[in-house]
Amino acid sequence: MNIHEYQAKALLRDYGAPVSDGRVVLRAEDAKTAAGQLDGPLWVVKAQIHAGGRGKGRFMETDAGDKGGVRLARSVEEAEAEAKKMLGRTLVTHQTGPVGKTVNRIYVEDGSGIERELYLALLVDRATSRISFVCSTEGGMDIEEVAAETPEKILSFAVDPATGYQGYHGRRIAFMLGLQGKQIKQCVALMGTLYKLFTDKDMEMLEINPLIVTDGGDLKCLDAKMGFDGNAIYRHPDIAELRDTTEEDPKELEASKYDLNYIALDGEIGCMVNGAGLAMATMDIIKLYGAEPANFLDVGGGATKEKVTEAFKIITSDPNVKGILVNIFGGIMRCDIIAEGVVAAVKEVGLQVPLVVRLEGTNVEEGKRIINESDVDVIAADDLKDGAEKIVKAVKG
Ligand code: GDP
Ligand code: MN
Repeated sequence: MNIHEYQAKALLRDYGAPVSDGRVVLRAEDAKTAAGQLDGPLWVVKAQIHAGGRGKGRFMETDAGDKGGVRLARSVEEAEAEAKKMLGRTLVTHQTGPVGKTVNRIYVEDGSGIERELYLALLVDRATSRISFVCSTEGGMDIEEVAAETPEKILSFAVDPATGYQGYHGRRIAFMLGLQGKQIKQCVALMGTLYKLFTDKDMEMLEINPLIVTDGGDLKCLDAKMGFDGNAIYRHPDIAELRDTTEEDPKELEASKYDLNYIALDGEIGCMVNGAGLAMATMDIIKLYGAEPANFLDVGGGATKEKVTEAFKIITSDPNVKGILVNIFGGIMRCDIIAEGVVAAVKEVGLQVPLVVRLEGTNVEEGKRIINESDVDVIAADDLKDGAEKIVKAVKG
């Protein structure tokens, strides 16, 4: 689960990390009041969307001006004017994809004088199963580009969970970043704070880009991006409250209500599968036969007919879906339940695209009978390979 920059900064502030003062607003006229409550004489007006690259992004609407989603203002009136240009408009960045994201919230922040822009992140490194620090002197830029072109400018190391964060970790980062004097002490303290916040809240990712040295020579977190482990959210009601469902894919949101493991993708073949491994294999084999999956979906072991019906409805609600492959290996999940769900869903929403069904395992005969006796137009498949071949052929001709 991701949160907005202003929410991430509130968490940082709670933990004592240095951030600027700021106010979030939903209406442009409130931006002026908000700016008036901050010191000035420089303000930053920042679009709040769950995507990075806002500064270099552009709005789809021409009346938003040709600046991105992070704008400097030199007066409270200017802060209001910039907020007005961004609210309700669609910001496109390299992370939003071409459709962009609607800006519904604006963060007005006290502007900082910047001497240096640095990069810092903490993340769960899957190779070592540990929390890693990543830092670079090249902040404010695309870190992917730095990693590809000048990897020597990035320092990354994992923290042993048995010792946790230690002062030498922070000093190692400080020296890599070329920090001087009081900044070294600030860095050691800040890294400890970030590590504690990361572990306290079960984060997956914490990125400060840029971490700056201000014109006064102090470290400050100028941007903040946080991602939390969805499986641990139940332990953090305070974090769960920060969820902004308007930032999420409506299909994924609907799926989460029914406890379905669904991830929207941009291909043309909708998949309904049981078991995460089989779902992955199904996506792979669709690609092998020359098409792209429209989603990942594991309906789980204990799915009911209602859950399967909802899953089917979510798949068919995606306008990109040109065909559906149901691939069930019934173990705990029974083939007859899947068949009943598919038939019920087709009756409710209709079937506009070809449907290939492969059923195997528990109650397979009963499942096949339910589908055959319904008037649903199904292409039957014998195995995974046969199913993938048939659906790709039905879609691509
Ligand atoms: P992002 O583009 O979505 O990553 O948004 P950031 O919060 O990182 O802002 C983008 C850039 O705007 C930063 O790299 C800074 O160069 C600039 N910026 C952001 N806040 C301030 C500020 O308080 N003062 C100044 N001078 N520039 C800022
Ligand atoms: Mn940034």
